[in-house]
Amino acid sequence: MILDLKIYPADILRKQAEEVQYPLAENTRKLIRDMFDTVRSANGIGLAAPQVGKLQRLIVINLEHLDVPLFALINPVIIDFSKKKSTMEEGCLSIPGVFGMVERPERIRVKAQDLKGKIVEAEAEGLLARVIQHETDHINGVLIIDKIKKYTKGKELVQ
Ligand code: ZN
Repeated sequence: MILDLKIYPADILRKQAEEVQYPLAENTRKLIRDMFDTVRSANGIGLAAPQVGKLQRLIVINLEHLDVPLFALINPVIIDFSKKKSTMEEGCLSIPGVFGMVERPERIRVKAQDLKGKIVEAEAEGLLARVIQHETDHINGVLIIDKIKKYTKGKELVQ
């Protein structure tokens, strides 16, 4: 099922999301499936639960075009960052039409839980590291407009 996206300045986008509890409730499992459908249908590369109105620490990553299977991270925490940073243009499904350059650490180590609650840790770099950071920001109420110095909205440059 495709969920409605919350659009900035919706209040929920600025809130700290809550830890997902285990065992996973059936409605949380359904939320994950619906977030998969929603991120695909919106042609997004990532989606966080607050963006669909659920204040839960849950994100999904859609890099299928790079042959990475669609996956969810539950209660993700970025536990290590590289000193080396990179800058890339980002947009956000919750802030339509806004794009800007965002500087982020190039590599990260993320800890999260799987569907059974098992703790998993992984390293990520490049676009994958960037999407995980963008979506993890969402569950902490942080948006790209907090990080970009100049951005375009439509054709207008906003500083
Ligand atoms: Zn976003």
